[in-house]
Amino acid sequence: MTSVHTIRTLIQTHQVRFVRFIWCDNANVIRAKAVRTTMLEPYLEGNGVGIAAAQQALPVLYDALAPGAGLTPDGEVHMRADWTTFAALPYAPGHARVLTDIYDGDHPWHHCPRTFLRRMIAAAAARDLSVYAAFENEFSLLRPSDTGPTPFDQTVFCQTSALDRAAEVINAITEDLEAQGLVVEMTYAESGPGQFELPVRYADALRAADQQIVFRETVRARAAHYGLIASFVPKIYPDKAGNGAHLHFSLARQGTSIVTEPGQPRTLSAEMRAFMAGILAHLPALMALTTPSANSFKRIRPRFWSGAFTCWGTGNREAALRAPMPDSAQPLTNVELKISDATANPYLALGAVIAAGLDGIDRQLPLGDPVRGDPADLPEDERLARGILPLPTSLGEAIAALERDDVLLEALGSDLARSYLAVRRAEWQAMKDMSHAEEVQLLLERY
Ligand code: GLU
Ligand code: MG
Repeated sequence: MTSVHTIRTLIQTHQVRFVRFIWCDNANVIRAKAVRTTMLEPYLEGNGVGIAAAQQALPVLYDALAPGAGLTPDGEVHMRADWTTFAALPYAPGHARVLTDIYDGDHPWHHCPRTFLRRMIAAAAARDLSVYAAFENEFSLLRPSDTGPTPFDQTVFCQTSALDRAAEVINAITEDLEAQGLVVEMTYAESGPGQFELPVRYADALRAADQQIVFRETVRARAAHYGLIASFVPKIYPDKAGNGAHLHFSLARQGTSIVTEPGQPRTLSAEMRAFMAGILAHLPALMALTTPSANSFKRIRPRFWSGAFTCWGTGNREAALRAPMPDSAQPLTNVELKISDATANPYLALGAVIAAGLDGIDRQLPLGDPVRGDPADLPEDERLARGILPLPTSLGEAIAALERDDVLLEALGSDLARSYLAVRRAEWQAMKDMSHAEEVQLLLERY
């Protein structure tokens, strides 16, 4: 535990004036109330910073309640700091941040996403399983201009000149992430205009979701210092590569990975296969949590390496789930879900993936064979015979699938399921007829 004494010392060392108490809501907007350090004392232990319960009813568009969320303007809940997540913000001198769990009186609040993930981690632990994860983000750099944002460059996959031009900003982002404890593994230019990737090291599930908040905050804030917009919007340019936030995960028992069979480092274990089968079985509904914006569904299309069918593969970049089998004798360490983007609240997305996977384990669902080649090229009757189905093509379809998915609804709990679905429905209603340009303009402000 980070002691209160340590926090006080860190505040002095970094000359912190404000501590941001951060939460991420059902619309995946990262928000904070920043407490003046001279006023911090009452919040150091126990007490949390108050917010309106209605915060969990706000869609991405504006600060007005989505109907049917089960929340009203009447009601106050409290953000309690998880001081283990405290860090000074390298991109905002004088500010620090702490991630929070939301409490209703003395109890964790039913609508709190971070609490939901904690519950799913506990459900895995009840089966003696630990979950590790990492979000592998792609993002676009844009330059603001009077006629609207334009791409930072027009380079293609891994083109070195993109790294040359972006070296300063990528280096600065990397330094900031490392100052906050994240481990940057690599960087390269991705296919799309101004698109980059910057994978970070995995962590236990709660930390992985926390890291996703820190990553998004840092990339956007530091890019702004260079006069750039960094955006995670899944599909900014209709016919170019989209921005995924592929979710990598692994399972361990008693500190030992159980991704593969003991002694067979390249053979998926029975439990891991069942976990993957659970994800595939729930994928249409899961999408309402892992690719939850109207814009997300423009990214999930065949031929864009985003995955568009309920299938898995090994080296296959058109498969929704990928168990990357290395060519060398290296062990298989994790599985990747491509149907995930950074418009997803990471606590909800990862928690729901765990719930789906555990259902697969509990019901010992069979995984079937990996798909070879592009699933879009398989004859339709073969796809059907193998249970490979096209994924929902709109948020409306994914919402309908979630409304029918008792396992995910039960995992969320009735309160969170209600507020979450209300927010998703409000967004779908408001955005389903928007032009792509209007949609992107709105979302660039948020993600
Ligand atoms: N940009 C692709 C997506 O939308 C992924 C490309 C890749 O890294 O395989 O998920
Ligand atoms: Mg990529």
